[in-house]
Amino acid sequence: MGTYDVMQVCMNGHKITHSYVENPEFRQSACDQCGADTIHKCPECGEPIRGKYLVEGVASVGGPDPPEHCHECGDPYPWEDEADQFAEVDASVLDDELAERCLSEYESGHYQSAVRTAFTVLEGRVRDKGGFPQGLSGAKLMLEAFNADEGPLSFGQTEGEQDGVMFLYRGAFQALRNPVSHRFVEDVDEDYARDAIHTVNLLLRLLDENTSA
Ligand SMILES: [Zn+2]
Ligand SMILES: [Zn+2]
Repeated sequence: MGTYDVMQVCMNGHKITHSYVENPEFRQSACDQCGADTIHKCPECGEPIRGKYLVEGVASVGGPDPPEHCHECGDPYPWEDEADQFAEVDASVLDDELAERCLSEYESGHYQSAVRTAFTVLEGRVRDKGGFPQGLSGAKLMLEAFNADEGPLSFGQTEGEQDGVMFLYRGAFQALRNPVSHRFVEDVDEDYARDAIHTVNLLLRLLDENTSA
């Protein structure tokens, strides 16, 4: 049986050293890559972070990457809930067509175009389901599709729900899509695009699962 040395890691997840005990000269109080503070113990329970695995008489090179969770209490380490991880769009929860058409644009940094494409997918789906011609699009399409009196798509049990859905879909185009197409182009960053794509994902899901034509 071997033993573990201790690892020192910065709050953003850069490994400082996996030989904190054996090589104290490698310790840093601030990360030399990003300047963040460093830790070598779990902030939750105080258990040292596992570093290099040492077996007596066996020399080895290298060591593990920073772990995601504390092996003692199971809490995620601080670098695991960093915002940049959240910024990724999780393809596994997205509608297949949406993932296929938007993700490459999103991942290559074309955020504005990724958002536009997401809404184009939604438009196409509503058009197909309601039997509308190509020419009808955007807010007007949503208004006609979900109209409580003569719209082809019905949702929920009450007229209130039906109205709510109509306003939701129409509003998504007016408030979230149209600004992307016309104005505020510089405001469409990675975070906006991610949230817009997930919003469209929800609307696609409601359309597929809760709407009848
Ligand atoms: Zn760092
Ligand atoms: Zn812990």
